[in-house]
Amino acid sequence: MMMNAAPDYAALRAQVRQFLASEAEAGRFVPKVDSWVRGFSRDFSKRLAQRGWVAMTVPERFGGAGRTHLERFVVAEELLAAGSPVLAHWAAERQVAPMLLRIGTEEQQRRLLPGIVRGESCFAIGLSEPDSGSDLASVRTKAVRVDGGWEITGQKVWTSAGHLADFMFVLCRTSESSERHEGLSQLMVTMSSAGVSARPISTMSGEAEFAEVFFDRVFVPDTDVIGEVGRGWQQVTMELGWERNGPDRYLSTYPLLARFFELEDESLEVQKGRLAAQLIALRALAFETTTKGQEGLDFAADAALVKDAGTRFEQDSVEDVRRSLSSKVADHPELDAHLKAAQFASPTFTIRGGTNEILRTITARRLVER
Ligand SMILES: Cc1cc2nc3c(=O)[nH]c(=O)nc-3n(C[C@H](O)[C@H](O)[C@H](O)COP(=O)(O)OP(=O)(O)OC[C@H]3O[C@@H](n4cnc5c(N)ncnc54)[C@H](O)[C@@H]3O)c2cc1C
Repeated sequence: MMMNAAPDYAALRAQVRQFLASEAEAGRFVPKVDSWVRGFSRDFSKRLAQRGWVAMTVPERFGGAGRTHLERFVVAEELLAAGSPVLAHWAAERQVAPMLLRIGTEEQQRRLLPGIVRGESCFAIGLSEPDSGSDLASVRTKAVRVDGGWEITGQKVWTSAGHLADFMFVLCRTSESSERHEGLSQLMVTMSSAGVSARPISTMSGEAEFAEVFFDRVFVPDTDVIGEVGRGWQQVTMELGWERNGPDRYLSTYPLLARFFELEDESLEVQKGRLAAQLIALRALAFETTTKGQEGLDFAADAALVKDAGTRFEQDSVEDVRRSLSSKVADHPELDAHLKAAQFASPTFTIRGGTNEILRTITARRLVER
């Protein structure tokens, strides 16, 4: 019997690194901190996809490369470390593709996965609402049954790329229930549908990376129900596992740290060593969690832990660099620009994808259950 060869992570990493260097050299992107939220380029996503590096875990029969989540992890690390603009395909490949593979119908998989693999389909994730963020079970966006499908009315907020996306996975209430976690469903909205409108929200840096999205009797056909009607809570819990466990939860500030590591200054050696050691430990934790996801095991609590520890590191690292360099930062213009951008983004690290208080609750509950 032929054994499949073990993936050659080093070779893959070198190929991605080379591609990114040539893209940056040609001026096709300018490295940014927090590029998975602040860098939107459909062209970049398509060029990456042409090399087979978008949604690479999708099987060949749906146009994908059929590679492992660990190989995807290696590619993601390189993309984030280089500060490349990945937002246009990020949610699609990070959580939508794994969800469709796990719970999508065969028809949905055939229809939606090829566009994701080609880097052409941009997805947004519609969970948070004006009065419902941490307490997701209280969502008020409602879908009522109509001939051939559902009609959605309501509002989402803080939706990353909500004003730029082609599709949105919307968590909504499809029936009233005395048990708050029941009666929720996930519907896929095509953003060009009648009744959808989106208003970008500017952050304090002046960028508009997320939006408020409004639904006024938006029709969603039965073919765009994701998973099972009424199982929205369980499905979103699984989806958030994919959202929280990756290198994007500790590498958002890496372009800043890379410039910091390059500085030739003996007084910074201890600080650099401390940051590097923390990064190595976080990476090991995230890699382990991804292995669990790859094996189909329940990894929601592990992913919550990765995100809690990773995003605290991200925030602390910005402060560490600022304190270590103090007035010397002006001597390094590129580092200074990354530092300013990281300071603006920093408060969001521990909020987006679920706040750290909520993540600790998830982890604590799971420990008690064990
Ligand atoms: C950059 C960015 C991108 C985002 N992108 C998306 C997206 O694409 N899609 C999407 O749906 N949402 C998105 N969000 C929204 C994000 O998920 C929510 O902001 C987050 O879940 C918190 O919800 P909230 O803002 O309603 O705060 P609240 O839930 O009102 O929380 C306010 C504070 O109270 C604390 N708190 C609340 N409940 C408890 C509790 N039970 N125990 C202890 N403390 C508690 C929280 O930890 C927080 O500190 C994004 C947010 C940011 C900043």
